[in-house]
Amino acid sequence: MTESRPAVDMEKLVSLCRRRGFIFPSSEIYGGLSSCWDYGPLGVELKRNIKQAWWRATVQRRDDMVGLDASILMHPQVWQASGHVEGFSDPLVECKECHKRWRSDELEGDKCPDCGGELTEPKLFNLMFKTFIGPVEDEANIVYLRPETAQGMFVNFENVLNTTRKRLPFGIAQIGKSFRNEVTTGNFIFRCREFEQMEIEFFVKPGTDKQWFDYWVEERLNWYVSLGINKENLQLRPHTKGELAHYARECYDINYLYPMGWAEMEGIANRGDFDLVEHAKSSGKGLSYYDEETKEHIVPYIIEPSAGVDRTALALLCDAYDEDVADGEPRVLLHLHPSVAPIKVAVLPLSRKETLAPLSQEVYAELRQHWMTSFDEAQSIGRRYRRQDEIGTPFCVTIDFESLEDKQVTIRERDSLRQIRVPIESLKATLQAKMDGEDLFVLPEGGKIWKEGK
Ligand code: ATP
Repeated sequence: MTESRPAVDMEKLVSLCRRRGFIFPSSEIYGGLSSCWDYGPLGVELKRNIKQAWWRATVQRRDDMVGLDASILMHPQVWQASGHVEGFSDPLVECKECHKRWRSDELEGDKCPDCGGELTEPKLFNLMFKTFIGPVEDEANIVYLRPETAQGMFVNFENVLNTTRKRLPFGIAQIGKSFRNEVTTGNFIFRCREFEQMEIEFFVKPGTDKQWFDYWVEERLNWYVSLGINKENLQLRPHTKGELAHYARECYDINYLYPMGWAEMEGIANRGDFDLVEHAKSSGKGLSYYDEETKEHIVPYIIEPSAGVDRTALALLCDAYDEDVADGEPRVLLHLHPSVAPIKVAVLPLSRKETLAPLSQEVYAELRQHWMTSFDEAQSIGRRYRRQDEIGTPFCVTIDFESLEDKQVTIRERDSLRQIRVPIESLKATLQAKMDGEDLFVLPEGGKIWKEGK
């Protein structure tokens, strides 16, 4: 295990997120709501970029995967069959002195960690939020807010199979909100009561499940690396036999080294045929697959990579956070990969003088056709660069008085502080190439190196 650690503590990150509009406490003017968060203008872009990157990698670029968007409220029998009504519970204890509640499986001793008081015997507490469908609030009308998106994919297995004519192996992917009435909360967006999941249910022939499980573990780990997360801060942790959920044959967590230590960012499970068998029994429908080769009906096994949007966002922010010195001044910066950075380009006229306005606005209008772009003309250029660095904007485009003559602008790279000067007509193509990973000093025709950097 490595000793490396993100350079940020949670308080600093929470404060940056609040200050710059990534994440606010939910209903803040009323004092907030425990473990619920609102994503602000920058946070919503970060989340959207994460979801888009996931969808591109798991659905768009593959021919063995299709998408789904199932409703959050499902037939109550779903949660009977899945085992959630019976078993989706945490053991809860209460302090007899200060009445604070704890998960007994997370406590080290048998006393209250806050006041040292005596604790009650553990009681099982179901994590599903209950509500009622229709106007009558009685037992018959109870429904649950889904605690995972997975069940939507199991119950639609036959619909998807019949409408897409997919053959095994194939998968269904879904992104959506899930809700858990978590007992222990805290650690910012790591553990929320309302959160977003990105889940895959991959259906395979029994006997090939081990091979597909290993495939997905590697695939998913590589995806985090492709978003720019440092490999040293990622870890694969197999579940021990005693820890495995009742439905799982094998399970790995992809852990990230968050400021509070290693913790799960994604879980990948080999669920065997548990889900289709249970839903077939409960619904009376034969949820099987006709194998043309063997002329037999089989129940596919399922490999489930289950990731969280919020925990991925937190890992990206922790991993990207850095403090250094730029042009003799301390700065805070987020080394976010261009694919996830909320703002890709900032257009900065060197001065507020009116002569620069028309060209600056023209460049800004053009760039925002392609990317989330911001425009900033307030205060000194150095402060404006630092404002962009702090939110992770990878490139700044500066328009100066010479630009009016030579129709060229400078591009400044966030991490290296290097600058190049390029003709406006090749600005879009140049920025695209740099976002795709080309070195800044590979120049377009007519371009030149402007500043060597750090
Ligand atoms: P934990 O042990 O931390 O409670 P879990 O094992 O219950 O997590 P899973 O049921 O495997 O989590 O859910 C899959 C993924 O959904 C997790 O890896 C995580 O990214 C996300 N997730 C689960 N619960 C939460 C939550 N309360 N807040 C934010 N994300 C969550």
